[in-house]
Amino acid sequence: MTKLSLRSFQEIEEVAETDQEITYFVQLRKKPSCCPHCDSSAKMYKLGQAKTQWVKDVPQGNKRVKLLVYRKRYQCSSCGVQFWERMQDVDPKRKMTKRLVAFIPEEAQCTLVAPTSKKLGICQGTIRQVCRDAMTDEEYNDLMERGFQTSGRRKPKE
Ligand SMILES: [Zn+2]
Repeated sequence: MTKLSLRSFQEIEEVAETDQEITYFVQLRKKPSCCPHCDSSAKMYKLGQAKTQWVKDVPQGNKRVKLLVYRKRYQCSSCGVQFWERMQDVDPKRKMTKRLVAFIPEEAQCTLVAPTSKKLGICQGTIRQVCRDAMTDEEYNDLMERGFQTSGRRKPKE
């Protein structure tokens, strides 16, 4: 039932699941094929260091999903530069999968910002920023306007 279905990652430990949340423990399936600095396809040496990084993903059913990624470090044998492996399914600006970044504006269009924030466990400011980046001015202003109307009680007093 619980399945990650992101091809670039492979699971390395059993899924942890609670009533509200699913956690996948993953690493990248493939070694880097070329150097991100010099573009060489020379051998990449895996270094001893690794780090873990949390990444949020699209919900499954009514559960929030996050990945704990074990990220490895490599050194290019051509230019000598060291680098953390790139995560192609993860948004470069945010600690979210690209599919989550695509999901947020759709969800916000349907249910508005505050419920989307609550459902995903992501603060409203971030939800608004993701929507701002993905939407036209008109769509975004409309979304903000609808949010304002439904939270009428919070209007400042005159
Ligand atoms: Zn290189």
